[in-house]
Amino acid sequence: MPGRILIIEDEERIARFVELELVHEGYEVDKCTDGRDGLEKAESGKYDLILLDIMLPGLNGLEVLRRLRRTSDVPVIMLTARDAVMDKVSGLDLGADDYITKPFAIEELLARIRLGLRHNGANTAQQADDLVHGNLTLSVSRHEVHYDNNLIDLTAREFTLLQTLLENKNIVLSRSTLLERVWGYDYMGETNVVDVYIRYLRSKIDDVYGVHIIQTVRGVGYVIKD
Ligand code: CA
Repeated sequence: MPGRILIIEDEERIARFVELELVHEGYEVDKCTDGRDGLEKAESGKYDLILLDIMLPGLNGLEVLRRLRRTSDVPVIMLTARDAVMDKVSGLDLGADDYITKPFAIEELLARIRLGLRHNGANTAQQADDLVHGNLTLSVSRHEVHYDNNLIDLTAREFTLLQTLLENKNIVLSRSTLLERVWGYDYMGETNVVDVYIRYLRSKIDDVYGVHIIQTVRGVGYVIKD
C-alpha cells in the first residue's frame, strides 16, 4: 500500500480526476469539498499526505493549513491557481511542503506526491527506479537529473517532459501526446510549447555535453532512442 491521501478540493471535476489517477496508482483516497470538513479529516491522523486547494468553501486552504499545523506535520501539497504567487508564498510560510499550479499534469502531481511521502518516511517500495540513457540519469524519487556526475538544473516542466520521453524510450511521442501528458488535461495553449521546451532541454543537456539525446521525427514528434 503506497499510502493514504486526502483530497480537499471543491472542484468536483478535478477532485474526481485526481482520485481516479491515485486509486489507479494504488493509493487509498478520500476526498471532501469543504474546508471545515477537510480540516477535521486531516486532523484525524489517518492520512500520509494531504492535497489542499486554496479557494474552498467553509474555510480557505491557507486557514486549513494554519490550523492543521498546530497539531500535525503531515505532508501537504497545495493546489494553487495559475500565477497566484502570494498564495504559494503564504502556503510555504504556513508550512506547506510543496505546491502545484492548476492546471497540472498528472505525472507531475504523482512525482510530487512520491517525493512528499518519501520525505515523510512512508513506504517507498513502489518508487520508480532511475531512468538511465547513456550518461544521463533521471531519478524520479529524488527529482534530479545528472549527466555523468553533474547535476542538471531543470524546471518542473522540463523534468516531466524528459521523464515522459525516457519512460517511453524508442516510442515516438506526438506533440499532442506530450502536451496531454506533460502540460495536462485542460491545457489550452499552442502546441509549439512542446518544441520550445525541447529546445530548453537541448540547450541544457545536448549543447553542454555535446550529445544528441532527443531526436526529432519530422512531422510527428520526438523520441529518445537506444
Ligand atoms: Ca477551489
